[in-house]
Amino acid sequence: MNSDILQVKDLHVHYDTYSGVVKAVGGVDFSVRAGEKLGLVGESGCGKSSTVLALLRMIKPPGRIVAGQVLLDGVDLLRLSDEEMRLARFAAISLIPQGAMNSLNPVMRIREQMADTMRAHNGGRPKRELQDRVRELLQWVGLSDWVANMFPHELSGGMKQRVCIAMAISLKPKVVIADEPTSALDVVVQRRVMHTLERVQQELGASVILAGHDMGLMAQFVDRLGVMYAGLLVELGATEGVFEEPLHPYARLLIDTLPSLDRKGDFKGIPGVAPSLLSLPPGCAFQPRCPHAFDRCSVDEPAWQEARPGRWVACHLWTEGRG
Ligand code: SF4
Repeated sequence: MNSDILQVKDLHVHYDTYSGVVKAVGGVDFSVRAGEKLGLVGESGCGKSSTVLALLRMIKPPGRIVAGQVLLDGVDLLRLSDEEMRLARFAAISLIPQGAMNSLNPVMRIREQMADTMRAHNGGRPKRELQDRVRELLQWVGLSDWVANMFPHELSGGMKQRVCIAMAISLKPKVVIADEPTSALDVVVQRRVMHTLERVQQELGASVILAGHDMGLMAQFVDRLGVMYAGLLVELGATEGVFEEPLHPYARLLIDTLPSLDRKGDFKGIPGVAPSLLSLPPGCAFQPRCPHAFDRCSVDEPAWQEARPGRWVACHLWTEGRG
């Protein structure tokens, strides 16, 4: 449970736009342990989706991975040939995409799409064997056999998302990445999808990286939580610890925005807006919104440091012992 299966080092992702270079991911470091569930949370545009898509090398132009390493069992995925990476997807690291609606082929039956994925990696597996495996996978994610004969439009959003989970685990990858897997689903379906994902993680022993904005969902699902802001990780630690005592002022404010029974009807927001990733403020990117900012914050960018064992934070309060 403690060895790192995935290590992400100094990852940078940029998008070239007419207005300039958008630094969507500005140097992110984290690792994922074998069998653990890690969450990446933040407001929209904080870089969480770009981070997870970069792990699979699925950033599309005008985006590009500018620098970094993504070590899966010691092998840098960013250095693999395109063909080697194609084979690694699904077999070693796979994606449950955002919005199942758009990720399934609308003119192919579920059975064919799932068999295609497996055929693309395992070549000439007998048709019968593939069909048995499709049935087994569908059962695993709680869907009936008849789903195999359906087209995507004949299924509900939650069923489609579970088909995506079945496809993502079809080749028993070591790491499964879920990018906002429950967006656009109602709360009851959300819970079912998350329960399915939980079973997958437990039974397959895979590590799961969950990217999302829903702190409540994260609190229930992940073992460790990384908070992202303006393309950077600002805090990372055991979920319970982060919720009980957030070290970074942004993480603190984010947790304060959660509805609480003690503060009925009193909803809090975070003052100000996130900065443009085209031109970040000097020093700490959170400085214009931070209630604890002091002189150094608008000059020096805070370093990513282990403030306590297992707790990482990027904030001068901790470098200067003011935290
Ligand atoms: Fe706030 Fe300064 Fe810490 Fe940034 S470095 S979060 S501005 S206290």
